[in-house]
Amino acid sequence: MKINVHAGHNPDGKVACGVVGLIKESTENRKVKELVIQYLRQLGHTVYDCTCDDGANQDDVLHKIVAKCNAHTVDLDVSIHFNAGASDKVGNGKTTGVEVLVYDTQTKTIATNICAAIAALGFRNRGLKTRKDLYVLKYTKAPALIVECCFADDADDVKLYDPDKMARAIVKGITGQSVAATAATQSSATSPYLVRVTTDVLRVRADHNTTSKIVTRVYRGDVYTIVETYNNGGTLWGRLKSGAGWISLKYTERV
Ligand SMILES: [Zn+2]
Repeated sequence: MKINVHAGHNPDGKVACGVVGLIKESTENRKVKELVIQYLRQLGHTVYDCTCDDGANQDDVLHKIVAKCNAHTVDLDVSIHFNAGASDKVGNGKTTGVEVLVYDTQTKTIATNICAAIAALGFRNRGLKTRKDLYVLKYTKAPALIVECCFADDADDVKLYDPDKMARAIVKGITGQSVAATAATQSSATSPYLVRVTTDVLRVRADHNTTSKIVTRVYRGDVYTIVETYNNGGTLWGRLKSGAGWISLKYTERV
């Protein structure tokens, strides 16, 4: 499929950012959006990110999103949002849940599947809502839908919410395909961090396993920057910023 994906609203801290509840919509919807795009691409789909980060006001955000969407010929436009109105800051043991907004019946099947996949995570399924008044739904050329993932102002929703699971559910709903757990969780780009070697001699390997070539050695007390990690059957490996190779993080401590 060819799919446009965007996070609704401006980024947090700007005008026209989204809901601010127990979590911030514009932050969370961008996390989910990034993962949805990553997973759709992993599955072989063509994806365009139509998020607007520099709208002058709410109307401008919407106009820019729609202009970006309509610049591509796609099968579907997906807009990621979080809902508000639950006002359950403490948690009453029940989520308020997911709903998907559609313009007409064109996206009914996919919208129903997204609701079901998110409901399978434990969220209440509020189902589909037909909305003729929403700018993005009305003016995008391709069939469009808005995912209101869950409620940012319901403590139960927030507790259950996990961006990765949410994104996987949305991708499942759109494509019917599941993202392989290994593909996403084994290797992860991380913000660089420092580790100190805690063993006398540690081998630096060409790859993230003990059978790959030893390229050099590092020594106790040395400090290195890790820029990527890889979970190899429970052993976490870290890639050195220098580009020399990988070390087992079992023999290091975070600085
Ligand atoms: Zn929103």
